[in-house]
Amino acid sequence: MGRELVDIYVRGGFIITMDKNRRVIRRGCVAISNGRIEAVGKCDSLDKDYKGRAAEEIDATRSIVMPGLVDTHVHLVQGMLKACANYLRLIPWLRDRVWPLQGSMTSDEALAAATLTMLEMIKTGTTTFLETGMVGRYGVDKIVETIHRSGLRAAVARHVMDMTGYALEEGILHPGLVESGEESVKDTERLYNKFHGWDGRIFIWFGPRTPGAVSVDLYREISAKAKELKTGITMHLAEVREDVEYTVKIFGRRPVEFAHWVGLTGPNVVLVHTVWVSDDEVKLLARTGTHVSHNPSSNAKLGSGIARVADMVREGVNVTLGCDGGPSNDNYDLVEEMKIAALLQTVSKGDPTVFRAEEVLEMATINGARALGLEEHVGSIEAGKKADIITINYWDPKLMPLNDPVSHIVYAASGNDVRDVIIDGKVVMRDRRVLTLDEDEVLRNVERMSRELFERTGICREPNIMWPIT
Ligand SMILES: [Zn+2]
Repeated sequence: MGRELVDIYVRGGFIITMDKNRRVIRRGCVAISNGRIEAVGKCDSLDKDYKGRAAEEIDATRSIVMPGLVDTHVHLVQGMLKACANYLRLIPWLRDRVWPLQGSMTSDEALAAATLTMLEMIKTGTTTFLETGMVGRYGVDKIVETIHRSGLRAAVARHVMDMTGYALEEGILHPGLVESGEESVKDTERLYNKFHGWDGRIFIWFGPRTPGAVSVDLYREISAKAKELKTGITMHLAEVREDVEYTVKIFGRRPVEFAHWVGLTGPNVVLVHTVWVSDDEVKLLARTGTHVSHNPSSNAKLGSGIARVADMVREGVNVTLGCDGGPSNDNYDLVEEMKIAALLQTVSKGDPTVFRAEEVLEMATINGARALGLEEHVGSIEAGKKADIITINYWDPKLMPLNDPVSHIVYAASGNDVRDVIIDGKVVMRDRRVLTLDEDEVLRNVERMSRELFERTGICREPNIMWPIT
């Protein structure tokens, strides 16, 4: 062939670039070649070079075109556990429901659940995500291979632990999830050697469990190893008040101070939740360049609290956005998550000026890319960057008239409005049809395997509805 100048030409959309100048382009066009963005600008000036000369042209005339979303906190295998742990606070939620289910999963069930979550993320516009913690029983290799096949870009953290508690609750981790320090570190290094850097889309991180499940020595070992391997670390921290009670009582330090003391702060660290943090801890996060993953739906549903996002952003902390998991959210729709994030800040401060839609969109795109160490590659639509781009159809009563596209994405849209998804310059979803995974097969698998898991564990067998079911 050779007559085509570029692979894909996205033509005619309202482009929110998220580039350094945060340019927004009416009637904009994007040319994509060899996985990268070759040009972005007004169609008026790009058409003469690219119109009719792309292998594939995507008509975006009634669409918003923007960078793919970056979800910085995902539990892949929890996709199967939606509504399985409602109306519980975090510790009983983990101890009595979520951990027994995860600790009883076979690797086939874990793969089915993880694939379901990947499919949902693609269909709602997430192109890059950070998985928080895999354990050996899930069959991590197959899950990583499936992420690669799905077309998604991901940092996959592997859980590391050497104790079995959560905060002051000793020994409550389900036996099916318990691993030794040695085996969890070794397996992380094995996965790193096998997969890290695969096609520039797969990265292996350390995912230490929360304080109460990891010794100080092991935290320090993880910190050193991550630096040596030039990779990342992610950990839940200060999600609930009990997390603060634990580090203060045992170590005389608040959670972020504790994390700093054991080497878990810095530009390669993403701390998740950080709801219960003091002014000094916010400053410490900013000073050390530690990233935060804010998960507003999860924190709200479990009654955990409202993170001080507006305060953190004002202090210069890089705050990003995450959906968390099936039983705490209960979906992986980062578009919806943006709205919850915005609303929680304004209602908790009693001030509609405290947080803007632009800031929320930064959290879900460029800030997330920065947290994952991928800012030079993704998170914005700029010439030279990898082409991770989504289109959102606005020709729909929900999004019309298009008075303010940024506001509409945050306050009016949901992930179901995402129409096309391009990752690494490849079309992964076209007109809402996912091209990399067989949607019907994924859903059939998950329906069958979730039944088996629930029957075996006796958890989530019947809907937890107050009314009689006939
Ligand atoms: Zn989580």
